[in-house]
Amino acid sequence: MKHCCQIRVKGIVQGVGFRPFIYRIAALFHIMGRVWNDTQGVLIHAEGGEDDIRDFIQEISANPPPLAVIQDIEQVEIPCAGYGDFTIVPSRVLETRSTFIPPDICICDECLEELFDPEDKRFQYPFITCTNCGPRFSIVDDIPYDRSRTSMEQFSLCPYCRGEYEDPQNRRFHTQPVACPACGPHLTLHKNTGEVVSVEIRDIVTRTVQLIREGNIIAIKGTGGYLLGADARQDSAVLKLRERKCRPFKAFALMAGTVERIKDFCHVTEHEKSLLLSKERPIVLLLEKEPLVSRHIAPSGIYQGVMLPYMPFHYQLFHEDPSMVLIMTSGNVSDEPIVFRDRDAFTKLSHIADYFVTYDRDIISQTDDSVVFADGDETHFIRRSRGYVPAPFYTGKGVCHILAAGGDLKNSFALAKDETIILSQYLGDLATPGGNRQYRDTVDRFQKIYDFSPEIIVSDLHPGYFTTAIADEFEEKGLRRIRVQHHHAHIASVIEDRSIEGPVIGIAYDGTGYGTDGTLWGSEIMVADRMEFSRMGHFSYFPLPGGESAITDVWKIGISLLHQCYGRDVPLLDEEKGKDVIFEIIEKKINSPMTCSIGRIFDGIAAILGLSRTISTEAEAAQRLEMAAMNGINPFAVPYEIPFIQEDGFVIRTDALTRYIVELMQEGRDVESIAYLFHLAIAKTTENVIAFIAREKNINNIVLSGGVFQNRLLLSMVREFLEKNGLQVYLPRRIPVNDGCIAMGQIAVAKEMVGNGKV
Ligand code: ZN
Ligand code: ZN
Ligand code: FE
Repeated sequence: MKHCCQIRVKGIVQGVGFRPFIYRIAALFHIMGRVWNDTQGVLIHAEGGEDDIRDFIQEISANPPPLAVIQDIEQVEIPCAGYGDFTIVPSRVLETRSTFIPPDICICDECLEELFDPEDKRFQYPFITCTNCGPRFSIVDDIPYDRSRTSMEQFSLCPYCRGEYEDPQNRRFHTQPVACPACGPHLTLHKNTGEVVSVEIRDIVTRTVQLIREGNIIAIKGTGGYLLGADARQDSAVLKLRERKCRPFKAFALMAGTVERIKDFCHVTEHEKSLLLSKERPIVLLLEKEPLVSRHIAPSGIYQGVMLPYMPFHYQLFHEDPSMVLIMTSGNVSDEPIVFRDRDAFTKLSHIADYFVTYDRDIISQTDDSVVFADGDETHFIRRSRGYVPAPFYTGKGVCHILAAGGDLKNSFALAKDETIILSQYLGDLATPGGNRQYRDTVDRFQKIYDFSPEIIVSDLHPGYFTTAIADEFEEKGLRRIRVQHHHAHIASVIEDRSIEGPVIGIAYDGTGYGTDGTLWGSEIMVADRMEFSRMGHFSYFPLPGGESAITDVWKIGISLLHQCYGRDVPLLDEEKGKDVIFEIIEKKINSPMTCSIGRIFDGIAAILGLSRTISTEAEAAQRLEMAAMNGINPFAVPYEIPFIQEDGFVIRTDALTRYIVELMQEGRDVESIAYLFHLAIAKTTENVIAFIAREKNINNIVLSGGVFQNRLLLSMVREFLEKNGLQVYLPRRIPVNDGCIAMGQIAVAKEMVGNGKV
């Protein structure tokens, strides 16, 4: 008895080899019928035995192509048409643009094998790719996703490639970037003056490895932008790069050829190994084991950010010299966005790089390398970009198009459309004109490729943010406006990411965020849901001399904390020449806004302990404090419980914490143990306050967010202490705890408000 089913598959199912996959498994289960793409995904008419159809559908959900993400499979019985075969029906030009664009992923095993197979047509061809691998998002200019709307447009398919492209049984069926040496893009090696050194791939590989060995810095055009490559084992090369990039402290990312090679210098757990090998190929922060690479790579000393090769050319380099460990850091000038246009590369990076390896296909959308770390079996994002963006998050039904501008640091913006939220790639800090331009360009591009016209614009409360100004512009064009408090957005992002129902107790331990009272918040304990929050506690306020923008001078914060306890009669500061000026500024309240930011408390205490005076990158002082604490871990230490007062909420006394630290110093305790005791005091006090609120409010779900939780020591302590109390602790799984999550939180709040008719 024959049955016929109409099967609808929704999700990322176009441009990922879905129809050839259906075609193949149809034969396996003796299914006759048709498959085609339409505006909602893939549609299948399947005729066959009842069991066969069931197994066929089971196989679709169990083993889809590597790049596919199935959101939903629906089936309805339809009358049999009496198909005599199974065919792929050509798609019509789609009217509604609901197609998803897959992220860029690493080269697949089959292509990798062909890359090193002398018999293969694409032997040593660095742009080898197939339906299961390679660039996507970074080369798409418009949708529907096909070759003429990507930067492959200028390369017309040769007969060989066309044959594969048109053969439904071939791995390269409808692979838009398919190419070979005869018809595709090519690599070239240049001096930094622009002069061409080589155009022959074998020669480029050997010479590049040679140049790296000789200590040169090579700008290598990657998937989403230029990376700067250098020998990670040569101090002089690393220091040269630090100097030229004006980056004295921030760690450089590394690339090694294999997991085994990484294990020579880092501890790699099974989970970390799976992250390293995942098709997204993120940078994974690993605990260093042996000093193999230069100590100047990661002056913070605890973790190395390492990734495996992801482009064919990377593999070719490591094939030439498997022992190499390379720096592979974003090619940018200090805080500017990553350089991805060839003309910018030669103007902006020529004073940093000695040579350039580039190619003649444009990168349309830039992406930085993603950064993650593992905590046991859980993955935490520091930066969500290449490999992950723009994969959508599926969510509750949306009622209108919402654009969330995000925050000004570590920016990603987000859009909500239908049942999805799409978070943009990491756009970094928006303080530079280059950053501003990139932001505007990327918002425009997303509106175009997703056929998205926002009806609601969401921003932070901060009056000085660039993203707030952008939202003002949208509002002037007639969009409805929602403003979401920074730390509410932090907590709401986790509620959305983890699909938590009901109110939670949120702990947003952060840098600074603009509060509803106009002060700088940053240690917020709140009871919150998607719609609203009430502030239940925070650390007590202290002045921030020089204001929010002067946070690079952490020594001033140290003085401020001391001054709060001791007035002008501060201990420990006999040598500090600038202190009188700072006292003056604080006492006369000149540009010294009050803050309760715990991030700034970390900075100030690091300064008091002599670990940091000024910083060159965000969280540098806090990282030094964490590193010191890691060396001072003492399982027998008795935690100091910071007293708190109950005003309108719990106010944890920052001054008492400072005093505690000063007294430890006066007792002559070493910096490492003091740093550890500082972490312990914060974790213990957090436990006390949260346990109290949890009992009082009868809430068991605790949400953690905020950049301070990138401190893995603090994170694990807080988590352990809360769990000991039987509380359920939630951290984000698919988005960062830092400000990269803000847009997601803004969307979560806005959707809820719209759904409840509050806008
Ligand atoms: Zn492939
Ligand atoms: Zn070809
Ligand atoms: Fe924040």
